[in-house]
Amino acid sequence: MSATSAERPEGLSLPIELVQGLVDSVEESYLVADRKGTILLANRSARKHLTNRGFAEPLRVNLFAEVLCVEPSEVFSQIEGGQHEVKMILELGAAKFRARITWMAESDWLAVQLSPQPGVSEGGASSGTHPTVQELLQEREITYRNLLAAYLKLQEVNRQKTVFLASAAHELKTPLAVIKGYYDLLLTGSLGKLTEKQKDILEESKDSCERLVRLVSMFLNYSALESGKLVLQLRDNDLRDCLEELTKRWSEAFQRKGVRLEATFDPSIPSFRFDYQKVQQAAANLLDNSLKHTPAGGCVTLCAGPHFWERRVAAASPSTERRRFRLPRPNSVEVSVSDSGPGIPAEHHQEIFEDFVRVDRNTSGMGLGLAIAKRLIQAHRGKIWVESEPQTGSKFTFLLPMDQG
Ligand code: ADP
Repeated sequence: MSATSAERPEGLSLPIELVQGLVDSVEESYLVADRKGTILLANRSARKHLTNRGFAEPLRVNLFAEVLCVEPSEVFSQIEGGQHEVKMILELGAAKFRARITWMAESDWLAVQLSPQPGVSEGGASSGTHPTVQELLQEREITYRNLLAAYLKLQEVNRQKTVFLASAAHELKTPLAVIKGYYDLLLTGSLGKLTEKQKDILEESKDSCERLVRLVSMFLNYSALESGKLVLQLRDNDLRDCLEELTKRWSEAFQRKGVRLEATFDPSIPSFRFDYQKVQQAAANLLDNSLKHTPAGGCVTLCAGPHFWERRVAAASPSTERRRFRLPRPNSVEVSVSDSGPGIPAEHHQEIFEDFVRVDRNTSGMGLGLAIAKRLIQAHRGKIWVESEPQTGSKFTFLLPMDQG
């Protein structure tokens, strides 16, 4: 007996057309069979499922022998053991289906729901079923793997882009050095006497060339940090030597712009282990910025001195008082660069340390100077920050622990 006949299955109190219409509206494959496996009702999706499996007369198949491919006792032993619902996986060629068999005690019928396993669709059609927790977890796993693969690919493409740009930047270095060399030669007057006007033009061209050199080397430093691991060359060094050398190197550029550069280094700073070049580079980036942003007639101060750095440790509980130990001697050095420039609004104080972030678009730069400085200082387990208010200048400070391993 089947739902396509006008006969009403025994025990069914509603008109068969109404029941058929209702079950056909369910997207999932849905079958009802009696104890012997005779199919009493099959919705549209179930009939399609059985036709796809090669049954010319889907409603004449036996539920156990031909749909579930199990002995009836396999299902009934579980039901009689007290299980109201039996679940099984059917493997049909490459396709897999989940079968949920519910026993209807009143009529002694079995209601069977068939749905494809996730990722496997029947004849390419979507099943429209509600996924189980296990299916959702499987889907999440697949999505996670796909995302991870896409992320790794993106990272590799990004690395290749950085390597490409770095080699292009590297190619610029030599011609720029040659150009700068010729400007220097011309300005000495050894190739002929220059008029004041010619001198001014050459000075300006040399400034631009130097700016270009700084941009290129900034980018090269960044790409070196990006492409390889940052390895510190930690040695016992004198920080005052390191900063004095830097001050000398920059004094001419400050003079040219008419900005006063003052340097104060506390003589009690002991030698300690740090990477000479990298700390110098971090301080140079801060000096570069202060010079760029301070107008002629302004002043920049570079200071360094010993510092008591009490690192905060999370308290055991909010109510526990944080215990403070008095340090016997300074454990770090504080280096700061203060300027009398335009200052930086508070909302930008964090973001300016990120890669390629620029606030002031009127000056040259790539938004990398502070990002590089931050990486270099953090590699020393130090920290860097800015204090500034618009119109009152800026003060960039970094701390370097003196107990580098
Ligand atoms: P760049 O100088 O190449 O733009 P940086 O990372 O060095 O990149 O600086 C990021 C931004 O921080 C700058 O664009 C500028 O707006 C702001 N900034 C940095 N230093 C100063 C300073 N001393 N005074 C004012 N603004 C500054």
